[in-house]
Amino acid sequence: MTPAGARSEPAPEPELKHGHGEALLSLEAVTRTYQVGDTQVRALDGVTLTIRRGEFVALMGPSGSGKSTLLNVIGCLDRPSDGRYVLDGTPVENLTEPELAAVRRRLIGFVFQAYHLVPRMTAARNVELPLVLAGMEPRERAARVREMLARVGLTPRARHRPDQLSGGERQRVAIARAMAPGPSLLLADEPTGNLDSRTGDEIIDVLARLHEAGLTIVMVTHDPRMGARAERTLRMRDGRILGDETVPGSPPTGGTTERAPPAGPPPGAGGGR
Ligand code: ADP
Ligand code: MG
Repeated sequence: MTPAGARSEPAPEPELKHGHGEALLSLEAVTRTYQVGDTQVRALDGVTLTIRRGEFVALMGPSGSGKSTLLNVIGCLDRPSDGRYVLDGTPVENLTEPELAAVRRRLIGFVFQAYHLVPRMTAARNVELPLVLAGMEPRERAARVREMLARVGLTPRARHRPDQLSGGERQRVAIARAMAPGPSLLLADEPTGNLDSRTGDEIIDVLARLHEAGLTIVMVTHDPRMGARAERTLRMRDGRILGDETVPGSPPTGGTTERAPPAGPPPGAGGGR
């Protein structure tokens, strides 16, 4: 399957992991307009874009340029007003609302600037929540929660509530929660926006490790330093993509050489849903 708009690429790098380099999603001439009183706001104005499996993409641009709108369309939280969007081989624009929600649950993890954790629940319980909603068995859930908290380095904070955690720890819980159901694509909207730069670096380190383990990531950021950690940078202005740069042989991220487990769905997590 070659989605329209996919660009021909130079020879693939060696040692690509399974499935890497294939298109995960493809947008073609996507617009999103909002009616505000008498005026139409074109939040997205003809976006054509392909993102391949395993990419780590930074989405940059001034406030109001359409970054969040694009991320929400990619994450199936919002729909194009016009244009085509194919995600994992499925043309999304024809799906019903429940079908769209199912695609979102199966494929997408979301991380937001403001964490959006449930205040009264422990870190472990917050991470467990999407697994409860997915109908996973309690025993399997508990193992999965432990694994996810370990991956973001928060095992010692499992029983803390959000108000007992620092901002960086809260965001790591939010990442563990987003990763728990085993998404193919992690979308992060200014994940370091509320954090000081050192803590922001720690969050990017976590994302970089997930990327190394095979996850596809699209991250909105204002901060050029954070953006520089990605291997591809999209620059938006006025609802359009004006720049698309891939760093050849992007720097080894995070400095870890140990092998992390693959980021695919946990065994048995996807069954029948
Ligand atoms: P960014 O994330 O880059 O700051 P957004 O995607 O949030 O930009 O917004 C892009 C444009 O669309 C802005 O002009 C914004 O005011 C407008 N917009 C976003 N969401 C809505 C909405 N729900 N209703 C009306 N206009 C909106
Ligand atoms: Mg935004």
